[in-house]
Amino acid sequence: MAATQTQTATVEHEHEHGWGLESAHATSQGRLLYTRCMACGARRVELEPVPTMPPAPLSVVV
Ligand SMILES: [Zn+2]
Repeated sequence: MAATQTQTATVEHEHEHGWGLESAHATSQGRLLYTRCMACGARRVELEPVPTMPPAPLSVVV
């Protein structure tokens, strides 16, 4: 990863969490995304609402 931060101070309070997806869980309300900060190990659970529109095809030229 391209880490540009040079701070070496201990991470105690707010910092820019580098959330990484640990696992995902499909529920009736949407997708539960279990993320974890690579820097401080904090965990977060996000609920990704069910999209009303079908996802776009993957054959998109970027
Ligand atoms: Zn963090």
